[in-house]
Amino acid sequence: MRQRNKPWAKDRMNEYPQYLIANPEQHKGKWFEVFEKNQPLHIEIGTGKGRFITGMAKANPDINYIGIELIESIIVCALDKLIEEELPNLKLLNVNAAELEKYFAKGDVDRVYLNFSDPWPKVRHEKRRLTFDSFLRVYENILVDEGEIHFKTDNQGLFEYSLTSFSKYGLLLTYVSLDLHQSDFIGNIMTEYEEKFSNKGSRIYRSEVKYRK
Ligand code: SAM
Repeated sequence: MRQRNKPWAKDRMNEYPQYLIANPEQHKGKWFEVFEKNQPLHIEIGTGKGRFITGMAKANPDINYIGIELIESIIVCALDKLIEEELPNLKLLNVNAAELEKYFAKGDVDRVYLNFSDPWPKVRHEKRRLTFDSFLRVYENILVDEGEIHFKTDNQGLFEYSLTSFSKYGLLLTYVSLDLHQSDFIGNIMTEYEEKFSNKGSRIYRSEVKYRK
């Protein structure tokens, strides 16, 4: 996601510690403490400007959500949405997904969402793809047993790569759509990228997989 540098982003983030978690390692194993209600936790990795995660939090008050985004200049846009909406079941985290085991214990998370992850098409960048084997291991180590990954993208190459990666890892495929917007799937919440690419005529691929016991 292209974004101009925002030198003021850090200061803005520091102003809202109630929304943007500053010391995530302190909450490892007890994330329920940062929310009003102790209920299942779903995280989105690469949350971007936050349209999906704020929409999900609004639509599902009985689920807690955390939007995780690496880039400060981008996550401040999600922060602005959260300040406006004041959702008690949504927090944001500015960390690298590769390091999630530092901040989450096994079983802290019930579901992982990956939406329009960067495709990194060059073979030498395979390890950066959020559906690469090492990331699948990280997710397994923070998810509950039989935890789920819900993934959508407009990128056919990344989708095919990811289905193979899930399968090689031993994940169970429980849902697949090769054209989400023409399917009977109910309750889809669009991301910023999803709107942009579907307006250009791209079809959207979606899958759900779960870890085996
Ligand atoms: N999900 C949003 C959407 O669909 O509109 C944003 C999609 S954008 C192509 C991918 C986002 O993932 C970028 O904002 C990028 O900074 C973030 N990202 C990529 N690798 C990441 C990582 N290892 N940890 C956290 N965020 C990451």
